Amino acid sequence: MPTILLIGAGLSGLTAARELTRQGHTVTVLDKGRGVGGRLATRRLGNGRADHGAQYFSAQSPDFQSLTQKMAQAGIVHEWHLEQSDPADFKHPRWVGSEGMNGMAKYLARGLDVRTGCTVTRITTNETGWTITASEADNTLTFSADVLIITIPAPQALALCAASGLVLTEADKAALMAIEYAPCMAVMLQLDRPSQLPKPGGLKQTDGDDQHSPVAWLADNEQKGISPNQTTITLHASHAFSQQHLDDPDQQALIPLLIADVTRYVPQDAIVDRQIHRWRYSNAIKRHPDPFLAAQAHAPLLFGGDGFGNGNVEGAFLSGLAMGRESNVQ
Ligand SMILES: Cc1cc2nc3c(=O)[nH]c(=O)nc-3n(C[C@H](O)[C@H](O)[C@H](O)COP(=O)(O)OP(=O)(O)OC[C@H]3O[C@@H](n4cnc5c(N)ncnc54)[C@H](O)[C@@H]3O)c2cc1C
Repeated sequence: MPTILLIGAGLSGLTAARELTRQGHTVTVLDKGRGVGGRLATRRLGNGRADHGAQYFSAQSPDFQSLTQKMAQAGIVHEWHLEQSDPADFKHPRWVGSEGMNGMAKYLARGLDVRTGCTVTRITTNETGWTITASEADNTLTFSADVLIITIPAPQALALCAASGLVLTEADKAALMAIEYAPCMAVMLQLDRPSQLPKPGGLKQTDGDDQHSPVAWLADNEQKGISPNQTTITLHASHAFSQQHLDDPDQQALIPLLIADVTRYVPQDAIVDRQIHRWRYSNAIKRHPDPFLAAQAHAPLLFGGDGFGNGNVEGAFLSGLAMGRESNVQ
């Protein structure tokens, strides 16, 4: 059976790895992050937690519904009743990781061969497949396999191919170049008392493109049920604000600008800690129509992730599942 190297231990990569491992393949997943999950990201803040990437997800396809039910039974996810805030916006049930969204990734990674802290720097071809060069701490490592699956955001995938001198066909390159992501600045706050955010603790403040309201989304992670006895707040800046300030050298200076936009929910004197994270690639706003791209190459090479198909958490899952099921790597 062909061996498989997979770049990216986000939801898409972990889903593909689980499916291919289930089929009997030897799969190695490499991720540059300290842990698994990618944009399913949760940070510790005081004695609490804050999700700073994906905030919640819906499950509309039977395959994702089935996984969601399984995770709910295992205590990994629970429903967040956001329809209480806006029934028009939240027509489907919304789910969250019970110990943060990252908990889903940890659950899915169980039993898989995942190497974190391992940044892929070069892709080269060998006689039958692929050789990957990666850096892990101060070491340079190489991995080889018959099949390569890349689930990192398309702009990063294109940069990696270019840096490696890997020539893609014009059609494959054009398909990857058409995928676009919006940036997002995320601020996490630890409070010394409850916030004034109304139940259920999640609020879309603008549609995301409003130039005059820097904060598009606020979440109270205690009300969300992931940060017991410790109020933490997540703020997501609007696309317009994030785009405007993406390359500001002093990211810390953005925090007061965002806090000033939410003082009616978050009293400034209640804030005891604050952190900011810049997502250069947050949501895929222009996506490839299919759940993955099988590139024209001398050995099997697949590109997938949330830039393919439906986008968002469920789209990333469906992309990974499709790569595992339909990529004909048997
Ligand atoms: C701020 C924000 C808010 C969001 N809100 C929501 C939401 O509420 N609901 C929703 O459904 N979706 C939301 N999303 C989108 C959702 O998080 C993503 O669609 C989904 O998690 C993407 O999964 P993925 O596996 O495709 O990619 P990722 O999770 O990005 O996985 C890719 C992985 O590749 C790794 N990687 C990158 N380069 C390398 C390299 N050179 N070597 C090794 N590893 C590498 C990264 O570390 C990462 O772990 C949000 C995203 C962000 C950032």
